[in-house]
Amino acid sequence: MIFRQLFDNASSTYTYVLASRSGGEALIIDPVFEQVERYLQLLDELDLKLAKAIDTHVHADHITGLGELRDRTKCITVMGRTSNVDVVSMRVDDGDTIEIEGVWLDVMHTPGHTNDSYCFHMPDRVFTGDTLLIRGTGRCDFQHGNAVAAYNSLFNKLLALPDDTMVYPGHDYQGNTVSTIGEERAHNPRLQIKSAAEYTELMNSLNLTNPKMMDVAVPANQRIGVQQTSEGDDIWSVTAKTACGEISHDDVLLIDLRDSSERKRDGVIPGSVHVLYANVEAAVRPGGLVHYEAMQGGKYIMYYCAYGERSALAMKTSRDAGLFNVRHIIGGLDAWKKAGGDIDLPTVLA
Ligand code: FE
Repeated sequence: MIFRQLFDNASSTYTYVLASRSGGEALIIDPVFEQVERYLQLLDELDLKLAKAIDTHVHADHITGLGELRDRTKCITVMGRTSNVDVVSMRVDDGDTIEIEGVWLDVMHTPGHTNDSYCFHMPDRVFTGDTLLIRGTGRCDFQHGNAVAAYNSLFNKLLALPDDTMVYPGHDYQGNTVSTIGEERAHNPRLQIKSAAEYTELMNSLNLTNPKMMDVAVPANQRIGVQQTSEGDDIWSVTAKTACGEISHDDVLLIDLRDSSERKRDGVIPGSVHVLYANVEAAVRPGGLVHYEAMQGGKYIMYYCAYGERSALAMKTSRDAGLFNVRHIIGGLDAWKKAGGDIDLPTVLA
């Protein structure tokens, strides 16, 4: 496995790069906007293709690199179901798995520091964001933080992991890089308590000042979605409502770009075919499925995904490849469901 722990001095943030092999897909956790150039250089040097960029929560102390990385690499942006942001490509919930080639992260919803805090767990390590720090824990006094929820997340979820699980936090201010669950259980001063009430009392006594960047970072981090329509342009994008009336037309080929896990969890639009987003570049080249259907088949391609971001990017990739009878559904399956569109239930795919 390829694993890198990168540090942003200004915000004391740790960012993690993971991949299973050189020449393969990579994912990045908690990228910082100002460091994007450095990440791209590292990915290039290690011969990695960025597939997914993930934030553990909406950050208050730095601006996320998710949007910039997506714009530069067309990677999939991932956040939790409860993150209050306009659009990300993929949302995950407790019990879901985030997958790239050869790497699987199990998602744990661990509210408390914020209501949208998530940890990502592999067999030997856990990325804890600001939920659990080395000899510390995340504050609970803004962004819907809650000390009782934090107590439950810490004691009932993270400390339930095996003692030798390595802990990789979202920040460190003392130069620590890694710990373990057992080490934190024994020596983290915030974990030497007996009840949620005691934890609440401890957290309430901290009297912390707000992060310097908070008023800038939070609003910036809540608006990260890609533009899904161009000005006065309804050629490339259709609303879910319009799409509902069009998918039965013989010349329309509906393509679902989501991961298999999302299809199983949320269902699919009837009659759609599956082309994994990561395979779009190959599919739009001569010999690829999309290229064939659009050119020889005379089909109108209609892409969709979860929220319209991957489909907007796939449409651009298709146009760049010289395919012009391509559209996408604004807002994705989420908008489709809200417009009353039919869904094939997940059991059909099982
Ligand atoms: Fe935080």
